[in-house]
Amino acid sequence: TAALAAVEALNPRLNAYITVTGDQALAQAAQADAAIAAGEAGPMAGVPVGIKDLFCTKGVRTTAASNILRDFVPPYESTVTANLRRDGAVFLGKTNLDEFAMGSGNLTSAFGPVENPWKRAGSDAALVPGGSSGGSAAAVAAGLGFGATGTDTGGSIRQPASYCGITGIKPTYGRCSRFGTIAFASSLDQAGPMARTVADCAVMLGSMAGFDAQDSTSVDRPVPDYLAACGRSLKGLRIGIPREYHAPGMPAEIEAIWQQGIAWLRDAGCEIVDVSLPHTKYGLATYYIIAPAECSSNLARYDGVRFGARVAGGTLDELYENTRRAGFGDETRRRIMMGTYVLSAGYYDAYYLKAQKVRSLIQRDFTDVFADVDVLLTPTAPSAAFAQDEKPSDPVQMYLNDIFTVPASMAGVPAMSVPAGVDAQGLPLGLQLIGRFFDEETLFAVGSALE
Ligand code: GLN
Repeated sequence: TAALAAVEALNPRLNAYITVTGDQALAQAAQADAAIAAGEAGPMAGVPVGIKDLFCTKGVRTTAASNILRDFVPPYESTVTANLRRDGAVFLGKTNLDEFAMGSGNLTSAFGPVENPWKRAGSDAALVPGGSSGGSAAAVAAGLGFGATGTDTGGSIRQPASYCGITGIKPTYGRCSRFGTIAFASSLDQAGPMARTVADCAVMLGSMAGFDAQDSTSVDRPVPDYLAACGRSLKGLRIGIPREYHAPGMPAEIEAIWQQGIAWLRDAGCEIVDVSLPHTKYGLATYYIIAPAECSSNLARYDGVRFGARVAGGTLDELYENTRRAGFGDETRRRIMMGTYVLSAGYYDAYYLKAQKVRSLIQRDFTDVFADVDVLLTPTAPSAAFAQDEKPSDPVQMYLNDIFTVPASMAGVPAMSVPAGVDAQGLPLGLQLIGRFFDEETLFAVGSALE
């Protein structure tokens, strides 16, 4: 009830939730109470959480923040949300995001922008929460839920976590099932938790993760006890500092927080090692070929016939055109056009195939470096939250936000953002930890020492 009251009080300003499911939350809370009384409580029993509106929830509208799915009510449940339900979580509602999870500022939602609960010192300007999981990040930061689910394709859990001063982890690709999660770029999409503390994320990921035969890329490995990893000794761990992440033009404050993180880990008994990931500089360019390519193919299903909205037309082609023109926003269209272009005959080899080859080189960088170190430490994003009206007019400028988060996505390795300090204007900044395949435990151990 307290969480719902917070949603009622603050959501009109923050716009973090697209749909609030108060009745469902109260029913789930009552069930959780009964389970607790019966001594059968799951690890999430009674915990109020927000669900990014990209996860299908049976009987509850799921929009992907797009007009094309504005009235879509899925007849099935995503595996991640089913797992959370099984463990007793209470769903407050569906959180806002960039349309189909494409964006870095939650500015492309058909349901309006989300406001970051943080403000610059002495200014009332509304700041972006980051994106695409901006609604989830703002909800958690403002107390409209103890945690929220996110999805991360190129940074959409980590960058908003950094902008809103919370913790978020993108687990290894294959750790959480993609079944029932609306697809953006299938070879990159990964669900993960966003919460106020590293330990909260540990409990939530433990519930969300696990093998699922309904997702062909789900990996059949046991889910460890992540909470047990929090607070574990860091003595002897080798922490790599990749030199390519000293981006030119990065604010000195971010560099300073990074150095502070290094000092903390050294004090905790870690060995700090300079390392190189030589193909980092190709990360963004490669991502913005592969992600739009997969997006153009995934979004082909919204044709006005199979799902969601339909705008009539004289012929079938007109029906497709009218529906898609009315249904998709500008950024989504831009991605579909880029993706269609790089996949078209004559350009496929020059762009898409080449990007896939570079992706292998980026992956190899990580494999090589993890032969020597256990974890990498970097900043999460090259800036703090920016104002809603400072949105760059050049979309490429916006894409630069993802410079530090994209490489781990391309490689499929797990990565976490932990709040590490504030800038001169009092805005939160996060540090990113990147780990070996399926070694989320070490991220939880190091993350809990940093927070
Ligand atoms: N900002 C990136 C993009 O716009 C990442 C989005 C995401 O991870 N879903 O594609």
